[in-house]
Amino acid sequence: MSAGVTTNVVLLGSTGSIGTQALDVIRDHRERYRVVALAAGRNTELLARQAAEFDVPDDLARSCVDDPGALADLAAHSDAQVVLNAVVGLAGLPATQAALGHGKRLALANKESLIAGGPVVARARQDGGGELVPVDSEHSAVYQALRAGKRDEVRRVLLTASGGPFRGRSGGELARVTVADALAHPTWNMGAKITIDSSTLMNKGLEVIEAHELFGFDFDRIDVIVHPQSIVHGMVEFTDGATMAQLSLPDMRLPIGLALGAPDRLDEAFGPIDWSRLGRLDFEQPDLDAFPCLRLAYDAGRAGGAAPAILNGANEVAVAAFLDGRIPWLGIADVVADALQAGSGNVDAVEDVLEADRVARERAQAAVEKRAAA
Ligand code: MG
Repeated sequence: MSAGVTTNVVLLGSTGSIGTQALDVIRDHRERYRVVALAAGRNTELLARQAAEFDVPDDLARSCVDDPGALADLAAHSDAQVVLNAVVGLAGLPATQAALGHGKRLALANKESLIAGGPVVARARQDGGGELVPVDSEHSAVYQALRAGKRDEVRRVLLTASGGPFRGRSGGELARVTVADALAHPTWNMGAKITIDSSTLMNKGLEVIEAHELFGFDFDRIDVIVHPQSIVHGMVEFTDGATMAQLSLPDMRLPIGLALGAPDRLDEAFGPIDWSRLGRLDFEQPDLDAFPCLRLAYDAGRAGGAAPAILNGANEVAVAAFLDGRIPWLGIADVVADALQAGSGNVDAVEDVLEADRVARERAQAAVEKRAAA
C-alpha cells in the first residue's frame, strides 16, 4: 500500500464506536482510502449520512449487521482490499471468514468471531491467505512490538489491563458492588457490556484467547499485567530479556489507522504522550481469586474446541442478567463456570460455533434462573 495507491475499504459496523472512529481516520486520509461499502444496524439516518459523505452507492450501504450472510457478501466485495469488521457479536463470523477466504486484509475489531470461532478463522486464514490485523489496542501493541525481533526469539507476550473500577478490592468487598459501580470505568469510555467485562477482567481473558488465536503463542506464554494508567497497551519480552512496549494515550484511532495501512503508519498523531504531564506508570499482578473470570478464560482457552465459544456466550447472558439486577456481580463468574463445567465439543464450521453459543446461552440462562430463584 505505497503512496499514491488508493486502498478500498469495506466497513462493517460503521455507526458504532470503532466504525465512526475509522471514518474519522479515513476522512483525513482520502488520498489513501476509499470506502466502497458500509454496513450498520438500526441507525439508518447516520448510515445514510455516511454513505452520502463517502460516496457509497445506496445498494452498498446496508442496514444489515444482524444478517451474517449479507455481511459476508459485503466482506467478499471484489473491489475491496481491506475489510474492517467492527460488527458486535457472532453475526460477524461469516464476514471474517469471507474476508480471509478471499485473501483480503481483515482489520478485526469483531473479537467474538475470533474468540468463539478460532478454529474456523484459522482455516479461512490458511486457505484464503488473507492477512489478519488486530484493531484491539492490546493486540495492536503486541503486533507492533513483535516487529522488534524474530518469532522464535519471543519469550512471552504481555497484555495490559486497566484493572477496571474494582482494582485492588477483595472478594468480600466485591460481593456488594452495584451496576452503577461497575459501569464507572476509570480510563476507557466504552459500551455497557464491555465495561462490565472490564470490571470482571473477562474482557482481558477474552483478549488472552484473542492473542492466542492471532499470534499463535501458547497460553503459558501470554500473561496479563494490570496497569491502571492504560498508557502501555501491550509488550513482548524476548529471549535476551529485552521487553518492547507500545505506549500511547487511549485513542482507538491509532490502532484503527495502523490496521488499515500496516506496516505503514499514519502521518497524523493520535494519542501522542505529553511526557511533561505523564507522572508515572504502575504495574501489578492481577488478583485471580478476586477476579475468577480471568482464570476461567485461561481454562477455556487451554481446553480449546468449543470451550471459548461457551465462555463467550455464557458471559453475555451472565452480564445481561447482572445489568438487569437478577444476579450479583460475583454471580457472573459463577454462571460462566457452571456453563463451562457441563463440557464442550469441537468446532469445525460456523454451524458448530453457533450451536456451542446456543448451548452456552441455554446453560447460562438455567444457571441465572437457579440463582435468581435462590
Ligand atoms: Mg482491548
